[in-house]
Amino acid sequence: MSSEQIPSAAPSLSRLIQELQKLPGIGPKSAQRLAYYLIRLPDDDAYALADAITAVKQQIVLCAECQNLTDDSPCSICSDSRRDQDVVCVVEDPLDVLALERTRCFRGLYHVLHGVISPLNGIGPEQLKLKELYARLSGKQVQELVIATNATLEGEATAMYIRRQLAGSELKITHLARGLPVGGALEYTDELTLSRAFQGRQEL
Ligand SMILES: [Zn+2]
Repeated sequence: MSSEQIPSAAPSLSRLIQELQKLPGIGPKSAQRLAYYLIRLPDDDAYALADAITAVKQQIVLCAECQNLTDDSPCSICSDSRRDQDVVCVVEDPLDVLALERTRCFRGLYHVLHGVISPLNGIGPEQLKLKELYARLSGKQVQELVIATNATLEGEATAMYIRRQLAGSELKITHLARGLPVGGALEYTDELTLSRAFQGRQEL
């Protein structure tokens, strides 16, 4: 059932329902429930939500160094001089940075690819933040690259691709240990498993 099938809904309400339906995991029924919930919210709360969406769209940029989402570039991790500048951990997306930061076992820097190589979905290496990665590696004193892509076919293929691209470089290239569930996303891995995988990382 789509929102167009609710003849009684006012146009502004239909519009809100349609926008909410575009969110991941939100079907037509949930969109309607959310819309009616938002209508009943106190004005301040509803405008605060709308403002937060506007602010995030206006302020969030990619960190020029690690490509993570940030309000200010370079981000707080890249500009933290206490972090180990020799090690860069490559992840698929910003949520993986949060997952790894929660483990507190990694004190180096990150590089966010914003995806994985996926020929079926038409995503090739040129659509990932790989150029930016190679530029970082050539310019700075990075000694170790930890590849922490997800344990999926695409994640593995992307890790292999990066390793091949960097073959012959002096860089030590490691990979998270195989304690991670196959097919599993870093984001949903519990902190203990993730920190063990990090500590047990192996050279590729
Ligand atoms: Zn950064």
